[in-house]
Amino acid sequence: MILIGLGANLDGVYGTPDQCLQECSNLLAGAGINVIKLSSIWRSAPVPISDQPWYKNAVCSVETDLNPHELLSALANIEDEAGRTREELNAARTLDLDILSYNDKIINEAQLTLPHPEIHNRSFVLYPLREIAPNWVHPILGKSVDEMIAKMPKGQEIERC
Ligand code: AMP
Repeated sequence: MILIGLGANLDGVYGTPDQCLQECSNLLAGAGINVIKLSSIWRSAPVPISDQPWYKNAVCSVETDLNPHELLSALANIEDEAGRTREELNAARTLDLDILSYNDKIINEAQLTLPHPEIHNRSFVLYPLREIAPNWVHPILGKSVDEMIAKMPKGQEIERC
């Protein structure tokens, strides 16, 4: 299964963060990435905690003929089209697209880490992920989504919209 995390907390080319996330299926399809399942949109506090606006987040599963590196590059292009500017780490953003997992491949390169190294630490990934892939097991940690949620650091505020 190929899993992608979506997040936004600034207005951009496609409107509000909600509108941008709703447009994502079309944007991905235009790049040869077909959304199979899409979670609800969730509202989450910035991690690490800051005075940025809260994020809107979702997770989707997709099918694509792109390999992991081609997929990463296609996602970066979509982020750019959505008006993303790349500033400091953890800056507010119009659209963030992360590859969470690519068929459980393990890659450790400067440009691409798979599975995404923060899956188990982020409520804004795990709660939407549970909606669309409750049986997914982390290929390195060997933990189910429920087990990762149970072990997650406390205090990350999140609610389903
Ligand atoms: P950000 O958009 O701030 O989450 O970070 C993007 C940077 O993380 C890019 O330079 C990517 O090359 C790198 N990166 C490493 N692994 C991943 C991954 N699994 N998904 C998305 N970006 C990744």
